[in-house]
Amino acid sequence: GRLQKRKKRKQQSVTFADIEGVDDAKAQLLEIVSCFKKDSNYTKLGATPPKGILLTGPPGTGKTLLARALATEAKVSFFDMAGSEFVDTYVGMGARRVRDVFEMARNSEPSIIFIDEIDAIGGIRGRTLNSESDNTLNQILVEMDGFNKDDNVVVIATTNRPETLDPALLRPGRFCGEVVVNVPDKEGRRKIFALHLKNVLMQEDKEYICDYVASNTEDFVGAGLKEIVRKSIAVAARRGGEFVTFDDILQALDRTKSSLDPCRRAVG
Ligand code: ATP
Repeated sequence: GRLQKRKKRKQQSVTFADIEGVDDAKAQLLEIVSCFKKDSNYTKLGATPPKGILLTGPPGTGKTLLARALATEAKVSFFDMAGSEFVDTYVGMGARRVRDVFEMARNSEPSIIFIDEIDAIGGIRGRTLNSESDNTLNQILVEMDGFNKDDNVVVIATTNRPETLDPALLRPGRFCGEVVVNVPDKEGRRKIFALHLKNVLMQEDKEYICDYVASNTEDFVGAGLKEIVRKSIAVAARRGGEFVTFDDILQALDRTKSSLDPCRRAVG
């Protein structure tokens, strides 16, 4: 399932227009990219970009989406690794794959290496029974330490649990930059919901409905808001409706709230 999802995602390019309500994170990421494109004012002023950036924040806030959009917007090469792809790997394969990816990235700079869910391999070394993930992590550290000053490669990794990472990852020269993707506020939720509702057939006033949903989804993140839209379409289809109605959305909202939906932010 996961592999298929990844393959599918690769086909269409995501842009910043597909992500709403996380403007601060967008701006910070763009700034980092300008830092390592040679023609930018940042580099002329002598800025040195971080070698590694940790994209943190609760699940479903759009971290993965942001990293992919960044590659599109920045027009740099993009190399994709998921932490989970190393979990059941053969001895030596994880480290080898890391070596290969870093080499490709160096050969096509400026480039971004993306490690989704780095916590799958980036836990404190020696604490897991899986020494293979320790080897993989060690190789990432070796590669990052081997960056030259003028290597235009930046490693972006996502995690929902930065506190579980091996402190060695956070040392200077490694993942020393952090961009936090926060839970959206009401205005952010309105924009995210409107984005996902854009192509949905409705007769009623979408603006009013988006306001209503934003006001009644206080602890929701982007993934949860998207889920409400998906469910409301299902409700309308089951009823045989030609359009999605406000009432369908209210039902979907109700169901999304009353279930223990993993898309909702864990409270506390
Ligand atoms: P996880 O940590 O669980 O991987 P994530 O923060 O990486 O979550 P995504 O996987 O990028 O979140 O988000 C899941 C889906 O929810 C996205 O594909 C997108 O459709 C929707 N979504 C999440 N956040 C946003 C947002 N800020 N704007 C628009 N859509 C969003």
